[in-house]
Amino acid sequence: RPVEGAANSHVGVVGAGYVGLTSAACLARLGHTVTCVDVDTAKVAALREARVPIAEPQLPRLVSEGISASRLRFTSELASLARCDVVLLCVPTPARSDGTVDLAAFDAALQALRHTLDPRAVVAVKSTVPVGTTARTEELLGVASVSNPEFLREGHAAWDFLHPDRIVLGATRPEAADRVGRLYRGLDAPVIRTDPASAELAKYASNAFLALKLSYVNVLAELCEHHGADIAHVAHAMGLDDRIGPAFLAPGPGWGGSCLPKDTSALLHAAERAGVDFAMLSDAVAANFHQHERVVRKVRLAVTGSAEGSLRGIRLGLLGLTFKAGTDDLRDSPALAVAERLADEGASLTGYDPGIRRSKDLGRIQLVDEPALVAKDAAAVVVLTEWPQFRELNWPQLAQLTDHATVVDTRNLLDPDELSEAGFAYHGLGKPRR
Ligand code: NAD
Repeated sequence: RPVEGAANSHVGVVGAGYVGLTSAACLARLGHTVTCVDVDTAKVAALREARVPIAEPQLPRLVSEGISASRLRFTSELASLARCDVVLLCVPTPARSDGTVDLAAFDAALQALRHTLDPRAVVAVKSTVPVGTTARTEELLGVASVSNPEFLREGHAAWDFLHPDRIVLGATRPEAADRVGRLYRGLDAPVIRTDPASAELAKYASNAFLALKLSYVNVLAELCEHHGADIAHVAHAMGLDDRIGPAFLAPGPGWGGSCLPKDTSALLHAAERAGVDFAMLSDAVAANFHQHERVVRKVRLAVTGSAEGSLRGIRLGLLGLTFKAGTDDLRDSPALAVAERLADEGASLTGYDPGIRRSKDLGRIQLVDEPALVAKDAAAVVVLTEWPQFRELNWPQLAQLTDHATVVDTRNLLDPDELSEAGFAYHGLGKPRR
């Protein structure tokens, strides 16, 4: 139930993407009155009719409830934020081609807000931004600004927003942090009050650590193959140690998505500018490129019998293209990075993903509507995203459709015994040879 009462705020949210739309819908749920602004007029038009353009559980319901309760509205006019108590900045901060942070959208939002906000308003920076950006925001806008980084996971965005592991408030003025903190009242989470630089860095530090953890387990999986060990057992044993924890310990085709790669390179650039040696992080990035290559080698070996064999003219079926299961987000997907390499080697690619419509243009990947079409005449089926429904496919039937019944399972998603029974030669990551 929304928490009604005098402490409800009028909140402005700039940017209606994964973070902005989730924040807007959830804050409306918590009883605040929210105005969400986006420069994308088509998106605003859809959202006004409660049509949610991203695949996130709970969001369609939260958005339509918010609209019906008159606590949530959408506009493309930033001027509508003039009377807000708190304004959340949730605009994209992508990487430039050199890996530094592109603040163009963020700065455009600041310019547009410059003479708009009530001087008593507080700005909360939820976008992931380099250290110093919150201080610069405060200076430029002339209103108190708080670094309030967001840690939600795509595919669980609303749940994570409403059940955060922690709320981080980085401010120079305690009363500004109080104001932003009150937005989240009713949520059961530790609140970390700190300075803006620490808050900004905490976000990058968390994502880069996750990248390190994944690169670590991917390299370990390679080592397991050399020693006939099973990465699942190694990771299980590691993960039961409280100091390590079980999450992010499964090998895969490489880490990706809209945040880990860009945030890792942003932190590396920050370290370089500060003259701090952060070689372990650049090694984790290099290991990630190596991981894409390793998957390609595995496919070559599975299909041609040689790690150096040619894939020219070979038909491969790809299962899963999004950067992880449960999202429709293809940004920096490791599945696509692997697919690019396979296509560069001359393989012809068919792809299926439950989150992606067939009408989407994915260049050299021919998208199909059903997994059976991926298997048809394929020399191998390559599982690249861990959609759980792939486990339930009729594998004996798929084996009949393929040219060679071979599966390369880069997520260790499938049951090797079941696949063998279905007639497949099964190749996982970090598994003993069968
Ligand atoms: P997104 O691309 O999904 O959405 C951004 C939205 O902002 C888009 O709808 C875009 O049209 C709009 N926009 C761009 N410029 C604008 C402007 N000047 N004024 C108003 N609207 C504008 O992005 P996202 O994934 O929500 O990420 C936003 C920020 O949050 C980034 O800094 C990202 O690093 C961070 N973040 C993302 C996630 C995630 O899982 N996606 C998690 C935590 C933090």
